[in-house]
Amino acid sequence: MLRIVLIGPQGCGKGTQAKLIAEKYGIPHIATGDLLREAAEKGTPEGLEVKKYFSKGKLVPEKVIIKIIEGKILSDDCKRGFVLDGFPRNLEQAEALDDITEINFIIVIDAPDELSIKRISSRQNCSQCRRVYGIDIPPKKKGMCDTCKGKLIVREDDKPELVKKRLEVYHDETEPLMEYYKIREDVLQKVDGSKSVEEVFKQIVKIIEG
Ligand code: AMP
Repeated sequence: MLRIVLIGPQGCGKGTQAKLIAEKYGIPHIATGDLLREAAEKGTPEGLEVKKYFSKGKLVPEKVIIKIIEGKILSDDCKRGFVLDGFPRNLEQAEALDDITEINFIIVIDAPDELSIKRISSRQNCSQCRRVYGIDIPPKKKGMCDTCKGKLIVREDDKPELVKKRLEVYHDETEPLMEYYKIREDVLQKVDGSKSVEEVFKQIVKIIEG
């Protein structure tokens, strides 16, 4: 059973690596940002509440996100494991996760702020299948998704002012998790997110396959 958590700042490549891990090991990729964006797009009362937070670059309230994650992790889809991308993002969420299940690998993908900003400023997402493109992975045809031909868009919270705010939230709220997980040194591992997609993935596979 592979229960993997990826932690890292915006633009470190968490989403890209989570997708590769999910494909290689046949486990679901749980991206909290995508789940919340879907909820917001549906326009349900809960979704509209969520939108208020992420349109300001803030974390959504714990009760909302923890409920969503718990439901996912305990579902049949996750029987063989999962890769979590975007959760936990603060101490309260880390403690809640510990109450739900045991994690085998906590992989931190490091990247300096300048690199995060550079990558995010060129990031585009498919409006249909949400595939991510950027300087390292450009689409074959400008503005169009290679996979589903959907239109590429810039996420509302990828605008420069909000990226700075989100990085601040990462440093203030998510980074302290390193201290929390430090005692589990067999579980916590770091990789260098400034390397290419292939190299980072190689480092991750090495950790998983030990
Ligand atoms: P992401 O796509 O992971 O960058 O997430 C986009 C936005 O969704 C964040 O800026 C938060 O507003 C919200 N979000 C994602 N994951 C979480 C989480 N674990 N806890 C609270 N808010 C989250």
